[in-house]
Amino acid sequence: MIRTGIGYDIHKLKEGLPLFIGGINIKSLLGSVGHSDGDALIHAIADSLLGAAGLGDIGKFFPSDDEKWRDAQSNIFLSEVKRMIVQKGYQISNIDCTIIIQKPKLQKFVPDIKKNIAKILNISEELLSIKATTTDHLGVIGKSKGWSVIAIATIYKNDEQSNN
Ligand code: ZN
Repeated sequence: MIRTGIGYDIHKLKEGLPLFIGGINIKSLLGSVGHSDGDALIHAIADSLLGAAGLGDIGKFFPSDDEKWRDAQSNIFLSEVKRMIVQKGYQISNIDCTIIIQKPKLQKFVPDIKKNIAKILNISEELLSIKATTTDHLGVIGKSKGWSVIAIATIYKNDEQSNN
């Protein structure tokens, strides 16, 4: 059985805050506003995996009005989501993501981001694709008022396991 899920997230950007992307602290004048660390990449990937497994969304498990998750490191969410999908008998086949941010240029950070996400999910980097783009200065993202991420995950389980 093969299933796919999408994830989308957007966070505001503000001066003086850290910018965590995929758990990597990116050098930037603007940082991500969020109840947790505002890591839209991890949030979108978590949502794509939950969606693929039919489990709901990240807000259901880690509500942003819960004090427990204030300033939480988002890698906690992602490793917990991985545990949940594995518990349902699924393995990750592929994850593809596009980060949409005007600046900074992310190209040089992508290898570290990829390595860290693969580590959190305990999967080979081969199963993971991370791309970055801008909006060519158009709209709120183009004006650096925010950044967003779209992710798609493909997961599978074999037939014997899908009977439970
Ligand atoms: Zn988020």
